[in-house]
Amino acid sequence: MIHTYRARLIFYNALLMIFLVSILGYTYIYSHNVIIEEAEIYSLNLSNLLRSNIEMEEEKLQHYTEVVRDDLIIQEYMFITTEISGEKEALWSLYRRNFGWLPIQRTAFIANDGKAIVGEEHRDLIQAVNNRTGMAREGAFYFQGKEDFERVTWARIYFQDAPRGIVALTHPLDRTWLERHHFFGGYYLLVDDNGRISLSNLPDAEGQRFQPDNGLITINERAYHVRAIPLSNKDEENERLWLAISEQELLDKLARHSSLILLLALVGGTAILITGLLIIRNFNRPLQQLMQITQAVTEGELPKLQKSSATDEINTLVNRFAEMLTALRSKQAEVERVHRELEENAITDALTGLYNRRHLTDLFPKLLAQAQREEKWLCGLLLDLDYFKRINDEHGHPAGDRCLAHAGELLRELSRASDYIFRIGGEEFLMLSINDSAEGALVLAEKIRRSFEIKECKTGGAAIPMTTSIGVSCADPDHPAKQALSSLLSQTDKALYRAKALGRNRVVAFSEIEETTL
Ligand code: GH3
Ligand code: MG
Ligand code: MG
Repeated sequence: MIHTYRARLIFYNALLMIFLVSILGYTYIYSHNVIIEEAEIYSLNLSNLLRSNIEMEEEKLQHYTEVVRDDLIIQEYMFITTEISGEKEALWSLYRRNFGWLPIQRTAFIANDGKAIVGEEHRDLIQAVNNRTGMAREGAFYFQGKEDFERVTWARIYFQDAPRGIVALTHPLDRTWLERHHFFGGYYLLVDDNGRISLSNLPDAEGQRFQPDNGLITINERAYHVRAIPLSNKDEENERLWLAISEQELLDKLARHSSLILLLALVGGTAILITGLLIIRNFNRPLQQLMQITQAVTEGELPKLQKSSATDEINTLVNRFAEMLTALRSKQAEVERVHRELEENAITDALTGLYNRRHLTDLFPKLLAQAQREEKWLCGLLLDLDYFKRINDEHGHPAGDRCLAHAGELLRELSRASDYIFRIGGEEFLMLSINDSAEGALVLAEKIRRSFEIKECKTGGAAIPMTTSIGVSCADPDHPAKQALSSLLSQTDKALYRAKALGRNRVVAFSEIEETTL
């Protein structure tokens, strides 16, 4: 499906990204649940702690009540007050003297008929106690007093096995009480009979209506999770005290987790991306380069490849390729040089270094075209060395060869850059020369003839005189190249023949023989 490494790399990178995002997503959801669970456990623990604390307080107050109840003098005074003299003050003084130290808020002694003996002024308390005692011997309850929400413990006082009345003690669940419990954390809400929050350490909560919705309340546009803390084993007061946990704190915690996870995702994602890019750069780029190079090599080029200082596998391959290309280039240069040499040899004569006859057919059309372009004459000087056989005979064939080379040198010396010299036979040469006029060619021919005459061929200590006969003619610019060449050769040949016939060592122009013969 994926054909290139590049695509595969991108694919694997994408897989890694998905993997990372999944892990982080899972972590987020997991941590989210953990935080919610943790908050739930926290609030449960808090409520349990408070609940057991409340129980302890209740037991303590109950204990105080029992201490008062079990006091023999109190029992006796209850009897005296209710059955005999009815002196309430004495009971009150006795109680104050003996139990004034008790850390309680309100005290009431109530006669069997429900009337107050001590604490007449606490009518709400007396009524609450009367409503709840019934036939029981002791008990505890919570109620909304005039000022505070209170915990009440009571006990029936007996004297001589007969009930003489009830003692009731209270503790307020007031602000001080609340502050004492604040160290547990969370917020506490005390709800009154009208369903309003009467007391709370949550700012601005007091006086607000308490209407939890799905375990949530909103105070000052902030949400709190609430949980009821049972005050007693009886149902009636069990929805009075509530523990509230700020949802915002929970959300803040979650947000901290989210930003940490987001940061991780960003760092991880960036790391994967950078790694991917680096891999593509370090791995794919040299591969692409190699692919381009091999393509170019297939198309017959040998481009230069920059070597790399890196020593990894891919770059080593690139470097080997670069070396291979360098080796191939030098081989190619050698091949080209040999090829040029072969070409050169194919068109030059080994003995004299002049062009050979084959090259004449290649070169002639170009020279003719050039002469036509420049409106000049392309003239041919055909040379044949005089009595050359004799030189061979007298001095030997090698000396003859050296004299042929000497003839080539002389011709080269006398030629201009625009002249071309060919060895077209054993001791026959043709010089093609572009001239302003046919006379120019004759002048050149005469110069050559003279030079041969003067400059002997020096070989093996001997100076061998050597002359040449030259036939001169110019090509007809109106003829096609091939025809022009053959007629030029035949005309110069005729002129040369005439030069030989006239005694050799002379120049004859074809036009001259036309004049005399035609
Ligand atoms: P002329 O041209 O004046 O009539 O007399 P010639 O003796 O030069 O006669 P011709 O041109 O017919 O003979 C050419 C001679 O040149 C024949 C051969 O012995 C000699 N020759 C041809 N090619 C070579 C060569 O490559 N090396 C040597 N040493 N001699 C050659
Ligand atoms: Mg000859
Ligand atoms: Mg000759």
